[in-house]
Amino acid sequence: MTCTIHDMFDRRCEADGEKVLFELKERPNVSYAATRATVRRLASVLTELGVGPGDRVAAQVKKSPEAVMLYLACLRAGAVFLPLNTGYTGAEIDYFLGDAEPRLFVCTPETLDAHLPRGSAAMAVESLGTVGDGTLMARAAGATEQAQAVARAADDPAAILYTSGTTGRSKGAILSHGNLASNAVALNETWRFSENDRLIHALPIFHTHGLFVACNMALASGATLIFLTRFDPDEIIDEMADATVLMGVPTFYTRLLASPRLDPLATAAMRLFVSGSAPLQEQTHARFAERTGHTILERYGMTETCMIASNPYDGERRVGAVGFPLPEVEVRVTDLETGDVVPGGETGAIEVRGPNVFQGYWRMPEKTADEFRDDGFFITGDLGRMDADGYLHIVGRNKDLVITGGYNVYPKEIETMIDALPEVAESAVVGLPHPDFGEGVTAIVVPKDGAVIDKACVLDALSGTLARYKQPKTVMVVDALPRNVMGKVQKNELRGRFADLYAPARPTS
Ligand code: ATP
Ligand code: MG
Repeated sequence: MTCTIHDMFDRRCEADGEKVLFELKERPNVSYAATRATVRRLASVLTELGVGPGDRVAAQVKKSPEAVMLYLACLRAGAVFLPLNTGYTGAEIDYFLGDAEPRLFVCTPETLDAHLPRGSAAMAVESLGTVGDGTLMARAAGATEQAQAVARAADDPAAILYTSGTTGRSKGAILSHGNLASNAVALNETWRFSENDRLIHALPIFHTHGLFVACNMALASGATLIFLTRFDPDEIIDEMADATVLMGVPTFYTRLLASPRLDPLATAAMRLFVSGSAPLQEQTHARFAERTGHTILERYGMTETCMIASNPYDGERRVGAVGFPLPEVEVRVTDLETGDVVPGGETGAIEVRGPNVFQGYWRMPEKTADEFRDDGFFITGDLGRMDADGYLHIVGRNKDLVITGGYNVYPKEIETMIDALPEVAESAVVGLPHPDFGEGVTAIVVPKDGAVIDKACVLDALSGTLARYKQPKTVMVVDALPRNVMGKVQKNELRGRFADLYAPARPTS
Protein backbone atom coordinates (compact mmCIF):
# COMPACT_ATOMS: atom_id res chain seq x y z
CA MET A 1 0.00 0.00 0.00
CA THR A 2 1.24 3.44 -0.80
CA CYS A 3 -0.01 6.98 -0.60
CA THR A 4 -0.93 7.83 -4.18
CA ILE A 5 -1.66 11.20 -5.75
CA HIS A 6 -5.32 10.19 -5.56
CA ASP A 7 -5.00 9.56 -1.80
CA MET A 8 -3.33 12.95 -1.29
CA PHE A 9 -6.09 14.62 -3.27
CA ASP A 10 -8.71 12.75 -1.20
CA ARG A 11 -7.13 14.04 1.99
CA ARG A 12 -7.27 17.61 0.73
CA CYS A 13 -10.97 17.10 -0.01
CA GLU A 14 -11.47 15.97 3.59
CA ALA A 15 -9.53 18.95 4.90
CA ASP A 16 -11.40 21.59 2.89
CA GLY A 17 -13.92 20.35 0.34
CA GLU A 18 -15.29 23.82 -0.44
CA LYS A 19 -11.90 25.05 -1.56
CA VAL A 20 -11.75 25.91 -5.28
CA LEU A 21 -9.56 23.47 -7.19
CA PHE A 22 -10.20 24.77 -10.73
CA GLU A 23 -10.67 28.49 -11.18
CA LEU A 24 -12.11 28.91 -14.68
CA LYS A 25 -12.73 31.79 -17.03
CA GLU A 26 -15.83 30.81 -18.98
CA ARG A 27 -17.52 28.46 -16.51
CA PRO A 28 -18.23 28.36 -12.80
CA ASN A 29 -15.30 27.30 -10.65
CA VAL A 30 -15.06 23.68 -9.45
CA SER A 31 -14.35 22.85 -5.81
CA TYR A 32 -12.30 19.97 -4.42
CA ALA A 33 -15.48 18.26 -3.17
CA ALA A 34 -17.25 18.59 -6.54
CA THR A 35 -14.17 17.22 -8.28
CA ARG A 36 -14.07 14.29 -5.89
CA ALA A 37 -17.74 13.43 -6.48
CA THR A 38 -17.23 13.37 -10.26
CA VAL A 39 -13.97 11.41 -9.94
CA ARG A 40 -15.79 8.74 -7.91
CA ARG A 41 -18.60 8.53 -10.44
CA LEU A 42 -16.19 8.40 -13.36
CA ALA A 43 -14.33 5.60 -11.59
CA SER A 44 -17.63 3.63 -11.44
CA VAL A 45 -18.16 4.22 -15.16
CA LEU A 46 -14.63 2.99 -15.90
CA THR A 47 -15.38 -0.21 -14.00
CA GLU A 48 -18.69 -0.61 -15.89
CA LEU A 49 -16.76 -0.28 -19.13
CA GLY A 50 -14.56 -3.18 -18.08
CA VAL A 51 -11.48 -1.15 -17.11
CA GLY A 52 -9.72 -3.11 -14.38
CA PRO A 53 -6.54 -2.57 -12.36
CA GLY A 54 -3.53 -2.25 -14.65
CA ASP A 55 -5.63 -1.59 -17.76
CA ARG A 56 -4.63 1.37 -19.86
CA VAL A 57 -6.97 4.27 -20.52
CA ALA A 58 -5.74 6.47 -23.35
CA ALA A 59 -7.07 10.00 -23.57
CA GLN A 60 -6.76 12.60 -26.28
CA VAL A 61 -8.94 15.31 -24.81
CA LYS A 62 -8.93 19.07 -24.58
CA LYS A 63 -7.57 20.69 -21.45
CA SER A 64 -10.44 20.87 -18.98
CA PRO A 65 -11.20 19.97 -15.35
CA GLU A 66 -12.91 16.85 -16.72
CA ALA A 67 -9.63 15.69 -18.27
CA VAL A 68 -7.95 15.92 -14.84
CA MET A 69 -10.98 14.18 -13.29
CA LEU A 70 -10.52 11.34 -15.76
CA TYR A 71 -6.87 11.09 -14.74
CA LEU A 72 -7.83 10.93 -11.06
CA ALA A 73 -10.59 8.41 -11.80
CA CYS A 74 -8.00 6.17 -13.48
CA LEU A 75 -5.78 6.39 -10.42
CA ARG A 76 -8.77 5.60 -8.18
CA ALA A 77 -9.81 2.62 -10.32
CA GLY A 78 -6.23 1.32 -10.42
CA ALA A 79 -6.03 1.90 -14.17
CA VAL A 80 -3.04 3.32 -16.05
CA PHE A 81 -3.65 6.80 -17.46
CA LEU A 82 -2.18 7.46 -20.89
CA PRO A 83 -2.58 11.06 -22.06
CA LEU A 84 -1.96 11.80 -25.72
CA ASN A 85 -0.91 15.07 -27.33
CA THR A 86 -3.98 16.91 -28.65
CA GLY A 87 -1.99 17.77 -31.78
CA TYR A 88 -1.65 14.14 -32.87
CA THR A 89 -3.41 13.35 -36.13
CA GLY A 90 -5.44 10.22 -36.88
CA ALA A 91 -2.38 8.33 -38.16
CA GLU A 92 -0.34 9.20 -35.08
CA ILE A 93 -3.18 8.21 -32.79
CA ASP A 94 -3.36 4.91 -34.68
CA TYR A 95 0.29 4.33 -33.89
CA PHE A 96 0.00 5.14 -30.20
CA LEU A 97 -3.16 3.08 -29.72
CA GLY A 98 -1.53 0.18 -31.54
CA ASP A 99 1.51 0.48 -29.29
CA ALA A 100 -0.36 0.94 -26.00
CA GLU A 101 -3.44 -1.24 -26.66
CA PRO A 102 -5.67 0.54 -24.18
CA ARG A 103 -8.90 -0.97 -22.98
CA LEU A 104 -10.55 2.40 -23.42
CA PHE A 105 -9.73 5.38 -25.63
CA VAL A 106 -11.33 8.64 -24.55
CA CYS A 107 -11.43 11.42 -27.12
CA THR A 108 -13.28 14.58 -28.07
CA PRO A 109 -16.62 14.43 -29.93
CA GLU A 110 -14.79 15.80 -33.01
CA THR A 111 -12.30 12.93 -33.02
CA LEU A 112 -15.14 10.50 -32.58
CA ASP A 113 -16.93 11.97 -35.61
CA ALA A 114 -14.03 12.91 -37.84
CA HIS A 115 -11.08 10.55 -37.61
CA LEU A 116 -11.70 7.70 -35.29
CA PRO A 117 -8.57 5.62 -35.70
CA ARG A 118 -8.91 2.90 -38.29
CA GLY A 119 -9.50 -0.50 -36.71
CA SER A 120 -8.80 1.19 -33.37
CA ALA A 121 -6.58 -0.86 -31.12
CA ALA A 122 -8.63 0.35 -28.15
CA MET A 123 -11.29 -2.05 -26.93
CA ALA A 124 -13.77 0.78 -26.43
CA VAL A 125 -13.90 4.38 -27.61
CA GLU A 126 -15.82 7.08 -25.77
CA SER A 127 -16.01 10.82 -26.00
CA LEU A 128 -15.33 12.68 -22.75
CA GLY A 129 -17.72 15.49 -23.66
CA THR A 130 -19.71 17.41 -21.10
CA VAL A 131 -22.48 16.62 -18.69
CA GLY A 132 -25.79 15.98 -20.48
CA ASP A 133 -24.53 15.25 -24.00
CA GLY A 134 -24.55 11.46 -24.19
CA THR A 135 -20.87 11.01 -23.39
CA LEU A 136 -18.62 9.68 -20.65
CA MET A 137 -19.33 12.76 -18.51
CA ALA A 138 -23.06 12.34 -19.06
CA ARG A 139 -22.82 8.72 -17.95
CA ALA A 140 -20.84 9.78 -14.92
CA ALA A 141 -23.57 12.26 -13.99
CA GLY A 142 -26.01 9.35 -13.58
CA ALA A 143 -23.58 6.91 -11.97
CA THR A 144 -23.15 6.13 -8.30
CA GLU A 145 -19.91 7.07 -6.60
CA GLN A 146 -17.38 4.24 -6.46
CA ALA A 147 -17.26 3.32 -2.78
CA GLN A 148 -13.57 2.56 -2.45
CA ALA A 149 -10.36 3.29 -4.29
CA VAL A 150 -8.55 0.23 -5.63
CA ALA A 151 -5.48 -0.27 -3.42
CA ARG A 152 -2.21 0.24 -5.25
CA ALA A 153 1.42 -0.42 -4.37
CA ALA A 154 4.22 2.08 -4.94
CA ASP A 155 5.52 0.00 -7.85
CA ASP A 156 2.18 -0.37 -9.61
CA PRO A 157 2.02 1.64 -12.82
CA ALA A 158 -0.05 4.81 -12.63
CA ALA A 159 0.57 6.27 -16.06
CA ILE A 160 2.29 5.80 -19.36
CA LEU A 161 3.49 9.06 -20.80
CA TYR A 162 5.02 9.35 -24.24
CA THR A 163 8.17 11.51 -24.44
CA SER A 164 8.05 14.70 -26.50
CA GLY A 165 9.73 13.13 -29.53
CA THR A 166 12.42 15.82 -29.74
CA THR A 167 15.17 13.38 -30.65
CA GLY A 168 13.21 10.67 -32.44
CA ARG A 169 10.06 8.63 -32.10
CA SER A 170 8.27 9.17 -28.77
CA LYS A 171 8.76 6.41 -26.21
CA GLY A 172 6.16 5.42 -23.63
CA ALA A 173 7.58 5.91 -20.13
CA ILE A 174 5.91 3.79 -17.45
CA LEU A 175 5.50 5.85 -14.29
CA SER A 176 4.49 4.24 -11.02
CA HIS A 177 2.31 5.62 -8.23
CA GLY A 178 5.49 5.93 -6.18
CA ASN A 179 7.17 7.99 -8.93
CA LEU A 180 4.33 10.51 -9.12
CA ALA A 181 3.66 10.73 -5.39
CA SER A 182 7.31 11.09 -4.34
CA ASN A 183 7.89 13.80 -6.92
CA ALA A 184 4.88 15.85 -5.81
CA VAL A 185 6.05 15.63 -2.19
CA ALA A 186 9.62 16.61 -3.11
CA LEU A 187 8.48 19.57 -5.23
CA ASN A 188 6.00 20.84 -2.68
CA GLU A 189 8.73 20.76 -0.06
CA THR A 190 11.29 22.43 -2.33
CA TRP A 191 8.99 25.17 -3.58
CA ARG A 192 7.01 25.53 -0.31
CA PHE A 193 3.65 24.74 -1.83
CA SER A 194 0.56 24.99 0.37
CA GLU A 195 -3.20 25.37 0.19
CA ASN A 196 -2.62 29.13 0.10
CA ASP A 197 -1.08 28.94 -3.35
CA ARG A 198 -2.83 30.01 -6.52
CA LEU A 199 -1.01 28.53 -9.46
CA ILE A 200 -1.43 30.00 -12.94
CA HIS A 201 -1.73 26.91 -15.12
CA ALA A 202 -1.43 27.71 -18.82
CA LEU A 203 0.47 24.55 -19.88
CA PRO A 204 -0.96 21.63 -21.82
CA ILE A 205 -1.81 18.62 -19.65
CA PHE A 206 -0.60 15.79 -21.88
CA HIS A 207 3.00 16.42 -20.86
CA THR A 208 4.87 15.76 -17.63
CA HIS A 209 5.28 19.47 -16.85
CA GLY A 210 1.58 20.36 -17.04
CA LEU A 211 0.16 17.19 -15.46
CA PHE A 212 2.71 15.49 -13.24
CA VAL A 213 4.36 18.66 -11.99
CA ALA A 214 1.82 21.47 -11.99
CA CYS A 215 -1.44 19.56 -11.41
CA ASN A 216 -0.02 16.99 -9.00
CA MET A 217 1.55 19.68 -6.82
CA ALA A 218 -1.80 21.40 -6.45
CA LEU A 219 -3.77 18.18 -5.91
CA ALA A 220 -1.34 17.11 -3.20
CA SER A 221 -1.17 20.45 -1.39
CA GLY A 222 -4.73 21.78 -1.69
CA ALA A 223 -3.74 24.74 -3.87
CA THR A 224 -6.01 26.37 -6.46
CA LEU A 225 -5.28 26.01 -10.18
CA ILE A 226 -6.09 29.07 -12.27
CA PHE A 227 -6.81 26.82 -15.21
CA LEU A 228 -6.27 28.56 -18.56
CA THR A 229 -6.70 26.81 -21.90
CA ARG A 230 -4.17 28.99 -23.77
CA PHE A 231 -1.22 31.24 -23.08
CA ASP A 232 -2.13 34.88 -23.58
CA PRO A 233 0.46 37.25 -22.05
CA ASP A 234 -2.06 39.96 -21.18
CA GLU A 235 -4.43 37.48 -19.57
CA ILE A 236 -1.54 36.04 -17.54
CA ILE A 237 -0.53 39.52 -16.40
CA ASP A 238 -4.13 40.16 -15.29
CA GLU A 239 -4.14 36.87 -13.36
CA MET A 240 -0.88 37.73 -11.59
CA ALA A 241 -2.71 40.37 -9.56
CA ASP A 242 -4.25 37.57 -7.52
CA ALA A 243 -1.96 34.58 -7.98
CA THR A 244 1.22 33.29 -6.35
CA VAL A 245 3.03 30.99 -8.79
CA LEU A 246 3.54 30.66 -12.55
CA MET A 247 4.82 27.38 -13.96
CA GLY A 248 6.20 28.12 -17.38
CA VAL A 249 8.44 27.22 -20.28
CA PRO A 250 11.03 29.70 -21.62
CA THR A 251 8.75 30.94 -24.41
CA PHE A 252 6.19 32.05 -21.79
CA TYR A 253 8.79 34.40 -20.38
CA THR A 254 9.93 35.82 -23.71
CA ARG A 255 6.29 36.48 -24.58
CA LEU A 256 5.61 38.12 -21.22
CA LEU A 257 8.66 40.32 -21.75
CA ALA A 258 7.16 41.55 -25.02
CA SER A 259 4.26 43.10 -23.09
CA PRO A 260 4.77 46.69 -21.92
CA ARG A 261 2.50 45.88 -18.96
CA LEU A 262 5.08 43.63 -17.29
CA ASP A 263 6.45 45.56 -14.31
CA PRO A 264 7.05 45.20 -10.56
CA LEU A 265 3.51 46.27 -9.72
CA ALA A 266 1.94 43.68 -12.03
CA THR A 267 3.97 40.90 -10.40
CA ALA A 268 3.84 42.15 -6.79
CA ALA A 269 1.50 39.38 -5.53
CA MET A 270 3.57 36.60 -7.11
CA ARG A 271 6.06 34.61 -5.02
CA LEU A 272 7.53 32.24 -7.63
CA PHE A 273 8.20 32.05 -11.37
CA VAL A 274 9.42 28.64 -12.57
CA SER A 275 10.87 27.73 -15.97
CA GLY A 276 11.68 24.32 -17.40
CA SER A 277 11.27 21.87 -20.31
CA ALA A 278 13.88 23.72 -22.38
CA PRO A 279 16.91 25.91 -21.64
CA LEU A 280 16.14 29.42 -20.42
CA GLN A 281 18.19 32.03 -22.28
CA GLU A 282 20.45 34.10 -20.06
CA GLN A 283 19.07 37.30 -21.55
CA THR A 284 15.50 36.24 -20.68
CA HIS A 285 16.56 35.55 -17.10
CA ALA A 286 18.29 38.93 -16.81
CA ARG A 287 15.59 40.98 -18.51
CA PHE A 288 12.84 39.41 -16.42
CA ALA A 289 14.72 40.30 -13.24
CA GLU A 290 15.24 43.88 -14.46
CA ARG A 291 11.61 44.35 -15.41
CA THR A 292 9.94 42.68 -12.41
CA GLY A 293 12.47 42.24 -9.63
CA HIS A 294 11.77 38.46 -9.70
CA THR A 295 14.48 35.90 -10.39
CA ILE A 296 13.08 33.05 -12.48
CA LEU A 297 13.73 29.67 -10.85
CA GLU A 298 14.97 27.22 -13.49
CA ARG A 299 14.44 23.51 -12.97
CA TYR A 300 15.19 20.33 -14.90
CA GLY A 301 13.26 17.16 -15.50
CA MET A 302 12.04 14.78 -18.13
CA THR A 303 9.16 12.43 -18.88
CA GLU A 304 11.10 9.41 -17.61
CA THR A 305 12.08 10.92 -14.28
CA CYS A 306 9.51 13.60 -13.44
CA MET A 307 11.51 16.48 -11.95
CA ILE A 308 15.18 15.95 -11.16
CA ALA A 309 16.70 19.22 -10.02
CA SER A 310 15.74 22.74 -9.04
CA ASN A 311 17.50 25.96 -8.26
CA PRO A 312 17.09 26.76 -4.58
CA TYR A 313 13.97 28.52 -3.34
CA ASP A 314 15.87 30.57 -0.78
CA GLY A 315 19.47 30.49 -1.93
CA GLU A 316 21.06 31.87 -5.05
CA ARG A 317 19.25 31.02 -8.30
CA ARG A 318 22.08 30.71 -10.73
CA VAL A 319 21.68 31.77 -14.34
CA GLY A 320 22.29 28.93 -16.78
CA ALA A 321 22.10 26.29 -14.01
CA VAL A 322 19.26 24.00 -12.98
CA GLY A 323 20.34 23.83 -9.37
CA PHE A 324 20.48 20.85 -7.01
CA PRO A 325 18.88 17.39 -7.07
CA LEU A 326 15.48 17.21 -5.36
CA PRO A 327 15.26 15.44 -1.98
CA GLU A 328 16.00 11.68 -2.32
CA VAL A 329 17.19 12.12 -5.93
CA GLU A 330 20.80 11.35 -6.80
CA VAL A 331 22.52 12.88 -9.83
CA ARG A 332 25.97 12.06 -11.17
CA VAL A 333 27.93 13.08 -14.26
CA THR A 334 29.86 10.34 -16.03
CA ASP A 335 32.40 9.99 -18.80
CA LEU A 336 30.72 9.26 -22.12
CA GLU A 337 33.14 6.49 -22.96
CA THR A 338 34.18 4.87 -19.69
CA GLY A 339 31.03 5.53 -17.66
CA ASP A 340 33.18 6.64 -14.68
CA VAL A 341 32.13 9.66 -12.63
CA VAL A 342 34.00 12.70 -13.97
CA PRO A 343 35.75 15.25 -11.73
CA GLY A 344 33.69 18.32 -10.77
CA GLY A 345 33.43 20.92 -13.54
CA GLU A 346 33.87 18.42 -16.36
CA THR A 347 31.13 17.71 -18.85
CA GLY A 348 29.64 14.25 -19.15
CA ALA A 349 26.43 12.21 -19.22
CA ILE A 350 23.81 13.09 -16.61
CA GLU A 351 22.61 10.00 -14.74
CA VAL A 352 19.80 9.90 -12.19
CA ARG A 353 18.62 7.49 -9.49
CA GLY A 354 15.77 7.86 -7.04
CA PRO A 355 12.09 7.27 -6.33
CA ASN A 356 11.25 9.58 -9.25
CA VAL A 357 12.87 7.39 -11.92
CA PHE A 358 10.44 5.50 -14.17
CA GLN A 359 10.13 1.75 -14.45
CA GLY A 360 11.09 1.43 -18.09
CA TYR A 361 9.89 2.07 -21.61
CA TRP A 362 6.62 0.44 -22.59
CA ARG A 363 7.30 -2.65 -24.69
CA MET A 364 10.94 -1.64 -25.27
CA PRO A 365 12.88 -3.96 -22.93
CA GLU A 366 16.14 -3.60 -24.85
CA LYS A 367 16.02 0.18 -24.92
CA THR A 368 15.19 0.13 -21.20
CA ALA A 369 18.13 -2.16 -20.45
CA ASP A 370 20.46 0.08 -22.49
CA GLU A 371 19.50 3.21 -20.57
CA PHE A 372 19.94 1.82 -17.04
CA ARG A 373 23.23 1.09 -15.32
CA ASP A 374 23.58 -2.01 -13.11
CA ASP A 375 23.43 0.13 -9.97
CA GLY A 376 20.05 1.57 -10.96
CA PHE A 377 21.15 4.91 -12.41
CA PHE A 378 19.20 6.01 -15.50
CA ILE A 379 21.19 7.55 -18.33
CA THR A 380 19.15 10.63 -19.21
CA GLY A 381 20.67 11.35 -22.63
CA ASP A 382 21.49 14.87 -21.44
CA LEU A 383 24.99 16.24 -20.98
CA GLY A 384 25.89 18.36 -18.02
CA ARG A 385 28.43 19.44 -15.47
CA MET A 386 28.45 20.24 -11.76
CA ASP A 387 30.03 23.56 -10.86
CA ALA A 388 32.23 24.05 -7.79
CA ASP A 389 29.18 24.69 -5.59
CA GLY A 390 27.30 21.61 -6.77
CA TYR A 391 24.88 23.37 -9.12
CA LEU A 392 24.02 21.21 -12.13
CA HIS A 393 24.37 22.85 -15.54
CA ILE A 394 22.72 21.33 -18.62
CA VAL A 395 25.21 21.43 -21.46
CA GLY A 396 22.91 19.91 -24.07
CA ARG A 397 21.65 16.62 -25.31
CA ASN A 398 23.92 13.74 -26.17
CA LYS A 399 22.26 13.52 -29.58
CA ASP A 400 22.95 17.23 -30.23
CA LEU A 401 26.65 16.90 -29.53
CA VAL A 402 28.55 17.92 -32.67
CA ILE A 403 31.68 15.95 -33.48
CA THR A 404 33.76 17.96 -35.91
CA GLY A 405 37.19 16.85 -37.03
CA GLY A 406 37.26 14.53 -34.00
CA TYR A 407 36.53 17.31 -31.48
CA ASN A 408 33.39 17.41 -29.31
CA VAL A 409 31.47 20.67 -29.58
CA TYR A 410 28.57 21.45 -27.24
CA PRO A 411 26.06 23.64 -29.10
CA LYS A 412 24.76 25.40 -25.99
CA GLU A 413 28.10 27.12 -25.33
CA ILE A 414 28.00 28.67 -28.79
CA GLU A 415 24.25 29.43 -28.67
CA THR A 416 24.72 31.34 -25.41
CA MET A 417 27.36 33.54 -27.03
CA ILE A 418 25.34 34.15 -30.18
CA ASP A 419 22.17 34.93 -28.17
CA ALA A 420 24.09 37.66 -26.34
CA LEU A 421 24.73 39.59 -29.60
CA PRO A 422 22.52 42.70 -29.73
CA GLU A 423 20.81 41.93 -33.04
CA VAL A 424 20.05 38.26 -32.23
CA ALA A 425 16.73 37.04 -30.79
CA GLU A 426 17.71 33.38 -30.55
CA SER A 427 19.86 30.74 -32.16
CA ALA A 428 20.38 27.03 -32.60
CA VAL A 429 23.69 25.39 -33.35
CA VAL A 430 23.64 22.04 -35.14
CA GLY A 431 26.13 19.68 -36.77
CA LEU A 432 25.52 19.05 -40.46
CA PRO A 433 27.17 16.38 -42.62
CA HIS A 434 30.50 17.79 -43.85
CA PRO A 435 32.86 16.09 -46.31
CA ASP A 436 36.04 17.08 -44.44
CA PHE A 437 35.04 17.39 -40.81
CA GLY A 438 32.37 14.71 -40.46
CA GLU A 439 30.05 17.34 -39.07
CA GLY A 440 30.21 21.06 -39.71
CA VAL A 441 29.27 23.40 -36.85
CA THR A 442 26.42 25.51 -38.19
CA ALA A 443 24.71 28.45 -36.48
CA ILE A 444 21.07 29.09 -37.30
CA VAL A 445 20.14 32.56 -36.16
CA VAL A 446 16.88 34.48 -35.72
CA PRO A 447 17.21 38.29 -35.83
CA LYS A 448 15.43 40.52 -33.32
CA ASP A 449 12.42 42.33 -34.77
CA GLY A 450 13.65 44.81 -37.38
CA ALA A 451 17.34 43.86 -36.97
CA VAL A 452 19.56 42.74 -39.81
CA ILE A 453 22.13 40.02 -39.19
CA ASP A 454 25.53 40.43 -40.77
CA LYS A 455 26.82 36.86 -40.93
CA ALA A 456 30.46 37.98 -41.04
CA CYS A 457 29.96 40.07 -37.88
CA VAL A 458 28.53 37.04 -36.04
CA LEU A 459 31.54 34.97 -37.00
CA ASP A 460 33.92 37.80 -36.06
CA ALA A 461 32.29 38.20 -32.65
CA LEU A 462 32.83 34.51 -31.92
CA SER A 463 36.35 34.22 -33.28
CA GLY A 464 37.89 36.10 -30.35
CA THR A 465 36.31 33.92 -27.66
CA LEU A 466 35.80 30.46 -29.14
CA ALA A 467 38.46 27.93 -30.00
CA ARG A 468 38.79 27.59 -33.75
CA TYR A 469 37.24 24.11 -33.99
CA LYS A 470 34.11 25.38 -32.22
CA GLN A 471 33.57 28.31 -34.54
CA PRO A 472 30.62 27.87 -36.89
CA LYS A 473 31.53 27.14 -40.48
CA THR A 474 28.37 28.88 -41.64
CA VAL A 475 25.66 31.16 -40.27
CA MET A 476 22.13 30.73 -41.63
CA VAL A 477 19.46 33.34 -40.89
CA VAL A 478 15.84 32.20 -40.43
CA ASP A 479 12.64 33.96 -39.33
CA ALA A 480 11.90 31.58 -36.45
CA LEU A 481 13.15 28.34 -34.93
CA PRO A 482 10.79 25.37 -35.19
CA ARG A 483 9.43 24.66 -31.71
CA ASN A 484 6.86 22.28 -30.29
CA VAL A 485 4.14 23.32 -27.84
CA MET A 486 6.52 23.08 -24.90
CA GLY A 487 8.91 25.52 -26.58
CA LYS A 488 11.51 22.86 -27.41
CA VAL A 489 13.57 23.61 -30.51
CA GLN A 490 13.13 20.83 -33.06
CA LYS A 491 16.76 20.40 -34.10
CA ASN A 492 15.97 17.28 -36.13
CA GLU A 493 13.90 19.45 -38.39
CA LEU A 494 16.71 22.00 -38.76
CA ARG A 495 19.23 19.25 -39.51
CA GLY A 496 16.87 17.95 -42.20
CA ARG A 497 16.23 21.38 -43.66
CA PHE A 498 19.93 22.20 -44.07
CA ALA A 499 21.24 18.64 -44.59
CA ASP A 500 22.88 19.45 -47.95
CA LEU A 501 24.57 22.66 -46.90
CA TYR A 502 28.08 21.23 -47.14
CA ALA A 503 27.36 18.63 -49.80
CA PRO A 504 29.96 18.83 -52.56
CA ALA A 505 28.51 20.52 -55.64
CA ARG A 506 27.40 17.88 -58.13
CA PRO A 507 29.44 17.91 -61.32
CA THR A 508 27.45 19.39 -64.16
CA SER A 509 27.67 17.35 -67.31
P1 ATP B 1 12.43 12.67 -26.63
O1 ATP B 1 12.96 11.99 -25.40
O2 ATP B 1 11.26 11.94 -27.20
O3 ATP B 1 13.46 13.01 -27.64
P2 ATP B 1 12.20 15.05 -24.97
O4 ATP B 1 13.45 14.56 -24.31
O5 ATP B 1 12.19 16.48 -25.43
O6 ATP B 1 11.80 14.10 -26.19
P3 ATP B 1 10.73 15.39 -22.54
O7 ATP B 1 10.82 14.26 -21.61
O8 ATP B 1 9.46 16.14 -22.64
O9 ATP B 1 10.99 14.85 -23.98
O10 ATP B 1 11.82 16.48 -22.24
C1 ATP B 1 12.89 16.27 -21.37
C2 ATP B 1 14.12 16.96 -21.87
O11 ATP B 1 13.92 18.39 -21.92
C3 ATP B 1 15.31 16.76 -20.99
O12 ATP B 1 15.92 15.51 -21.21
C4 ATP B 1 16.19 17.94 -21.39
O13 ATP B 1 16.93 17.65 -22.57
C5 ATP B 1 15.18 19.03 -21.70
N1 ATP B 1 15.05 19.97 -20.55
C6 ATP B 1 14.15 19.98 -19.57
N2 ATP B 1 14.36 20.99 -18.71
C7 ATP B 1 15.45 21.65 -19.17
C8 ATP B 1 16.21 22.80 -18.73
N3 ATP B 1 15.86 23.49 -17.66
N4 ATP B 1 17.29 23.15 -19.46
C9 ATP B 1 17.65 22.46 -20.56
N5 ATP B 1 16.98 21.39 -21.03
C10 ATP B 1 15.90 20.99 -20.34
MG1 MG C 1 14.07 12.64 -23.85
